[in-house]
Amino acid sequence: MTDTEQNMIELQGVSKEFGTFLALHATTLQVKKGEFLTLLGPSGSGKSTLLNMISGAFASTTGKILLNGVDITNAPPRKRGIGMVFQNYALMPHMTAFENVAYPLKVRGVSKAEIKDKVTDALKRVGLAGFEHRKPKQLSGGQQQRVGIARCIVYSPSIIMMDEPLGALDKNLREQMQDEIKTLHREIGTTFIYVTHDQEEALNMSDRICLMNHGGIVQLGTPDDLYFRPVNKFAAQFIGESN
Ligand code: ADP
Ligand code: MG
Repeated sequence: MTDTEQNMIELQGVSKEFGTFLALHATTLQVKKGEFLTLLGPSGSGKSTLLNMISGAFASTTGKILLNGVDITNAPPRKRGIGMVFQNYALMPHMTAFENVAYPLKVRGVSKAEIKDKVTDALKRVGLAGFEHRKPKQLSGGQQQRVGIARCIVYSPSIIMMDEPLGALDKNLREQMQDEIKTLHREIGTTFIYVTHDQEEALNMSDRICLMNHGGIVQLGTPDDLYFRPVNKFAAQFIGESN
């Protein structure tokens, strides 16, 4: 295998301006197939901007994005095969858990029988068998996010991206769900790009961490690299902080 084939996602000089504000400096980054990569950094450092350009929600100002070696810089979000999980869950309030998870399959024209199988399996994977008929407001925050994760994995996207998915949950539940998400990653083997501002969460979960500040990458490496070999004072301080 060549290097390019092993890279699921490759960013080449990707930048983003909002008006005259440069939210993301020209960024080069390679995400390997099957890895769990975390974008870590303080609020406003450009994590969501970077994710939104990979998903296609935002167009980049400069640069090129490759998915499995294919240029997807201008491809519409639906064509990219990337699943997203959001901090605020983004569930449809009038739909049951089953209907929320079924939605991405329905819009893809999947048959009713297959939808039933896949949704049942996805809800079971996130520990929600038996909750099919509940509406979001009849579920706890953690359960709503499990529905959000089931809705993401149900159509087997080639990459799963999560933007601060545990940000609205309390500390104990956050730690439990970190383990659940890691287990899910191990089981399904899909490439994950995960966003958090919590350095402990990043150190616990990641194969590699991409530390960001002021719209740029400060350091990219394993949790051990960042913890034991920070490249500068910002990295040392940010990784050393505890909540
Ligand atoms: P993070 O996710 O790391 O908190 P963001 O990627 O959301 O940071 O934002 C990076 C910077 O870009 C911030 O300064 C933010 O205010 C700015 N920004 C983000 N989205 C927009 C937008 N739609 N219009 C203008 N500025 C934006
Ligand atoms: Mg953000």
